[in-house]
Amino acid sequence: MERYDVLVIGAGPAGMTAALEAAKLNKRVLILDKNKKCGNKLYATGNGRCNVTNTVFNDRVYYEHTKEVLSLESAPDSFVRGYLEDLGVAVTEKNNYVYPLSMQASSVVWAYNDALKNLGVEVKCGFIVTDITKTKKGFSVSNGIQLINATKLILATGGLAAPNLGCANENWLTDTFKKLNIEYNSFEPALCPLFTRENLKEISGVRQRATATLIKNGEPIDEESGEIQFTDLGLSGIAIFNLSGEIREKAKYKVSLDYIQDLSVEKTREYLINYKETNGNRTVLAVLNSLIHDRTALYLLKVVGIDPKKPFSSLDQKSIDEIVSALKENCFEIQGKHDYTKSQSTLGGIKLDDIDLSTMKLTKQPDISVCGEIVDICGKCGGYNITWAMLSGYIAGRNI
Ligand SMILES: Cc1cc2nc3c(=O)[nH]c(=O)nc-3n(C[C@H](O)[C@H](O)[C@H](O)COP(=O)(O)OP(=O)(O)OC[C@H]3O[C@@H](n4cnc5c(N)ncnc54)[C@H](O)[C@@H]3O)c2cc1C
Repeated sequence: MERYDVLVIGAGPAGMTAALEAAKLNKRVLILDKNKKCGNKLYATGNGRCNVTNTVFNDRVYYEHTKEVLSLESAPDSFVRGYLEDLGVAVTEKNNYVYPLSMQASSVVWAYNDALKNLGVEVKCGFIVTDITKTKKGFSVSNGIQLINATKLILATGGLAAPNLGCANENWLTDTFKKLNIEYNSFEPALCPLFTRENLKEISGVRQRATATLIKNGEPIDEESGEIQFTDLGLSGIAIFNLSGEIREKAKYKVSLDYIQDLSVEKTREYLINYKETNGNRTVLAVLNSLIHDRTALYLLKVVGIDPKKPFSSLDQKSIDEIVSALKENCFEIQGKHDYTKSQSTLGGIKLDDIDLSTMKLTKQPDISVCGEIVDICGKCGGYNITWAMLSGYIAGRNI
């Protein structure tokens, strides 16, 4: 029976980084993955361009856990850039988002695979781990056919997002946590579209810039600006994905869209009143289209019950105020989040209280290290999740 010093389960950015670091310590390392190739999910990241990190790390990028991540590395973007450059991947920045210079995720996957080979990390792909058992000398891991023994275990199976790209199986993962006595917070999809009570079929497909505010039980709790995508079932786009990570408990959530971020309510009203004086013969639709997408304008006019073909000069003050409210505070009732098939990350996972973050070892079982999305740390869109995966994998591998 084969025995390894270190067995890494999962060949995503977390597991591959951990395996490389453990191999640099002259450990005999094996990495197992159910996919055909290491780094499979990475190909799909950043729309095929792999957004590896970000130059901006404000206090909300990892929802409630930014402080913990930044306590491990105060400049995570420099860490990621440096690590990739050492692997032989040149990187570039576009509007704070950092990508491989080739703008191809495959550059990152290829470089990781070459490094694994060069450092002598053994790789078994197409290996679905179905059982992990603790033994006197460490762990024994099996896929139901083959048994592999190892002294140390690194769990890097990722979360439950995007099952089509090969993610962990929820029942298997929670059963494994119970069997190995690992404390976890229950999983939920994150970075996903939201379902709304309002039927948005008539504006489905429209992309509209807006500031989106998430309101929980009547209180605003987070705000994101960007391109909102209306879909048949609700709201999507990066700003909405980022707000979805704040939706956890059963509560009443609303999203309010402000389509005119540059103008206050008062200035928007002034703009429209001025318009009435200077170009009041234009239709209401034409006036709104001077500010927003024409299909968004048609939708809003339907919501407030104003004929889009009327001349703008025929509107009274009350109608103008209704239009201002619709432009500045268009509210949608949230009925739920999309499932894992459309989510890019996972909320929940192994509890931080049970992890020594300086080594990524479980405090009560230091022979088990954990890293990446399997841990209860989730970042917003913008490269934060790959950053966390690489950083935690680096710490896990170096401290094995
Ligand atoms: C469409 C999409 C786009 C994304 N874009 C970005 C982006 O641009 N930037 C960013 O920062 N983040 C992005 N993310 C999120 C990011 O990809 C993940 O957070 C990151 O890959 C997590 O790394 P990981 O190593 O923890 O897990 P993963 O990359 O998920 O790797 C875990 C591996 O473990 C394997 N595994 C699971 N269970 C088993 C088992 N029982 N036996 C064997 N193997 C197993 C899986 O097959 C998988 O290969 C995106 C996600 C998606 C779905």
